[in-house]
Amino acid sequence: MRFAGRFRPMVTSFSVAGIAVVVVGYALAGQPKPANSPVEDTRVVPAKTAYIDAHVHIDHQDPAGSFRALVRAMDRMNAVKNIVLTEPYGPDDPARWDAEVILPAAKKYPDKLAILGGGATLNAMILQSAKTGDASPAVRRKFTERAEELLREGAAAFGELSTEHFIQPSSPLKDYESAPADTPLMLLLADIAARHGVPIDLHMEAVPQTMPLPAGLNSPPNPPHIPGNIAGFERLLRHNPHAKIIWAHAGADNTGYRTPDLCRRLLESHPNLYMEIKADPTYPGKNPVLVNGKVQPEWLKLFQDFPDRFIIGSDQHYGPNSQGSLSRAQASVLVLNQLPADLARKIGRENVLRIYDGTQAAERR
Ligand SMILES: [Zn+2]
Repeated sequence: MRFAGRFRPMVTSFSVAGIAVVVVGYALAGQPKPANSPVEDTRVVPAKTAYIDAHVHIDHQDPAGSFRALVRAMDRMNAVKNIVLTEPYGPDDPARWDAEVILPAAKKYPDKLAILGGGATLNAMILQSAKTGDASPAVRRKFTERAEELLREGAAAFGELSTEHFIQPSSPLKDYESAPADTPLMLLLADIAARHGVPIDLHMEAVPQTMPLPAGLNSPPNPPHIPGNIAGFERLLRHNPHAKIIWAHAGADNTGYRTPDLCRRLLESHPNLYMEIKADPTYPGKNPVLVNGKVQPEWLKLFQDFPDRFIIGSDQHYGPNSQGSLSRAQASVLVLNQLPADLARKIGRENVLRIYDGTQAAERR
């Protein structure tokens, strides 16, 4: 089933009904909620323009309950669609799971949810192949079959993949993952993605040159040095210009190098590169989009200069009893609500629809 077919008709069907009171800063400030108050009773800030959050996660142990909570939160925030990603696991993590675990429950919301796959399987195969150096025809065949199986089953694209992922307290995922971005299986995935007209969603901490582990992270479990990855990333981007690569988490920088300047240089050089905006009030990182609730001028300038290349990817996690904070999702809304209306419409919705429009598939190669 083509993603675009499920995607387009719902744009006009959003509703803001039920959102009555807006108290800016309530969720972001992390103030305690009244005792025993379910998330529905907290006050939520809606987006001024209907939007799509293109990067969220759920509790895979209760997909149906998580989706119920997610869809409730979406309605309250004026989100018309959310893209739910699998988590990017290493090959040795016994907890790893992939899209099949959550796809059946998502079918209840065909207009509101899309699922990305490959976090446990494609990502593990990429990391394993990078470690062993085995990218034989048999490995490539198995990888291709798995990628195409995910699309057949209903995954809308590939994600979340990761070629540089730290172990840190803010993430439930406890795998250190590292590989060059241009390994043979990543290049192969770019060709598969281009052939099917679907993007790849990649988590990769920005490391222009090999560097010591950033302060504040522990080694072990992280290694003492982090290998440079931007040159390899650019080789991936150049490998197949029809492959749309979404670099997740702009504005949530853990190395100090995911600057607006680096993003600008890469966007200028690579027309097939897109970026997700993430703002995390609890762990703002080193080059945050929001400071004291305000979009920073250098980020705003970048969004304005590349209005077709950014989308919202809050990285919000939703569980069945979402008593927890919606702080990441709400921070995304806060970003959107500060953008000029035409830019908010593009970043909030139109760019996602275009990037995920599977009818743009490249020639078979
Ligand atoms: Zn991520």
